[in-house]
Amino acid sequence: MENLLDFTRDNLAVWLDGKGIRPFRAGQIFKWLYLQQADTFEQMTDLSKELRTLLFDHFYINRLALVEKQVSVDKTEKFLYRLEDGQHIESVLIPEKDHFTICVSSQAGCAQDCQFCLTAKGGFIRNLGVSEIVSQVRDARKYLMQKDIDPLKLSNIVFMGMGEPLVNYKNLVNAINILTDSDFGLKFSERRVTVSTSGIVPKITQLGLDTSVNLAVSLNATTDEKRSRLMPINKKYPLKQVLEACRTFKMKPRKKITFEYILIKGVNDTKEDALRLVKLLAPIKAKVNLIPFNEYSESNFKRPSKQDISDFLQILLDQNLTAIIRKSKGDDILAACGQLKATSVTS
Ligand code: SAH
Repeated sequence: MENLLDFTRDNLAVWLDGKGIRPFRAGQIFKWLYLQQADTFEQMTDLSKELRTLLFDHFYINRLALVEKQVSVDKTEKFLYRLEDGQHIESVLIPEKDHFTICVSSQAGCAQDCQFCLTAKGGFIRNLGVSEIVSQVRDARKYLMQKDIDPLKLSNIVFMGMGEPLVNYKNLVNAINILTDSDFGLKFSERRVTVSTSGIVPKITQLGLDTSVNLAVSLNATTDEKRSRLMPINKKYPLKQVLEACRTFKMKPRKKITFEYILIKGVNDTKEDALRLVKLLAPIKAKVNLIPFNEYSESNFKRPSKQDISDFLQILLDQNLTAIIRKSKGDDILAACGQLKATSVTS
């Protein structure tokens, strides 16, 4: 038995063709799965009885098993899911002014070992399959429907949950293919999908060739010495290579790469850091998201004072770098950047 949600429309068309069925049926099936949110083959009433039986014999359709949902005071919701093999992941649904953004996981755990990130503390478990990535979004749309909210209000996806998406490259790209299938899939615009990476250089370049989604790079430091200490991946792909991959990243005119920069008190928050950041990013079409460090009990790192944060921002702005302070949502329920660890509060 295969999970039907693992198939891109093209792959399904090929499978159907192999059974002597016209490939356009794949589009009909996709409409049922992703627009009608069907859970059974019986629901797919415009398919012949024979085709429905064939599908039933080869595929299953499932939902992620919700273990727990937490709601933040700012209305951000965190979903803890149990996967078929018992592993756990989290997604975060973030209400914005007129739409929702979902922050999805690409792996169970993470191998990058970034010193500031809570997900890293649990180590790496495994890559997520295509269906496990897509289902986080499909199930969130269904959740909104059940609350009488237009599911298309969920319009933005950020791959900023647990894991390093570019290490799970093939499944990531197939999942994006389904999520952005404009005729039959979940119809996300590629302009509203952002993949965030710790800096897997060869895959950054590849992502620009294979998709037109937005790129975000977690930079977090301005010297190799400091970055390697905070993010061990920097020893493999040092700053110079990361920035060169960004400079040559294929993207539409007027688009910019987002650089995430966590501000950690006494670690990377000085005036010199800010000036080096300006210099490093000068050759790149860049905007900076400053993320004040989200504290949690297992970490000794601290968030700088409000004044230090705004001073750092001001230096960037004075040098004509586009920059904002990104207030992470949901930190009271450990749903903010770097706080996902996929364990239940009740266990
Ligand atoms: N592995 C990918 C996707 C995760 S994105 C990546 O590194 O980009 C998670 C974001 O949260 C990253 O930009 C990371 O730098 C940031 N982050 C991690 N821990 C944090 C913390 N404690 N406070 C604020 N931001 C944090």
